[in-house]
Amino acid sequence: MTSYVLPPPPVASVAVAGSDKRFAVRRIFCVGRNYEAHAREMGKDPTREAPFFFMKPADAIVDSGTTIPYPPDTSNLHHEIELVLAIGKGGVNIAEDKALEHVWGYGVGIDFTRRDRQGEAKDAGRPWEWGKAFDRSAPMAPLSPAAAVGHPAKGRIWLAVNGKVKQDQDIADLIWSVPEIISICSRSMALAPGDVIMTGTPAGVGAVAIGDVITGGIEGLGEISITLGPKA
Ligand code: MN
Repeated sequence: MTSYVLPPPPVASVAVAGSDKRFAVRRIFCVGRNYEAHAREMGKDPTREAPFFFMKPADAIVDSGTTIPYPPDTSNLHHEIELVLAIGKGGVNIAEDKALEHVWGYGVGIDFTRRDRQGEAKDAGRPWEWGKAFDRSAPMAPLSPAAAVGHPAKGRIWLAVNGKVKQDQDIADLIWSVPEIISICSRSMALAPGDVIMTGTPAGVGAVAIGDVITGGIEGLGEISITLGPKA
């Protein structure tokens, strides 16, 4: 048995709806600009260019219902509500028509973004991590198993700040569908059980402030609520 010089870190995980078991998370992949209206609001041409990915560390996940401190190193923290899918069966070069067999479940998450740091990275041709992959940057509501909810291809996706709706679209508006995302991602990375993919955000992203209550949801997949507390 392997022994470690320090105790191993805790296993990152997401809650599971209707269960006291949790989904252990290996990696978080995120899709950039996957709704046309959001691509436009970010000043980009929403034509169907190949999707691109970035990542967050698994331990950036926080549970719904949590109060998180306003993160350091930003004065422009943005909300991005997203459909989350959880991989249950790994694979490489997964065919689109087999992709859904690899999905364990679905949920709703927030891709918190330090927009100021991301903008600087874009301008300088640098990596996005400081804008995207910071501590507590991936709140996630409990996952719903596909065995219970199927594979939703449509349904309202929304986010509100202090009860005022800011993002309100339908997951049917995804430029790249869930099977396409899985298939394309698996050509570059060997997907494995525990991998989670955040599929991109609809239009209406914007800044949040200390004291804000951020709620959101996807029809049929539950809701998320996060409160922004003072800086730690
Ligand atoms: Mn995003």
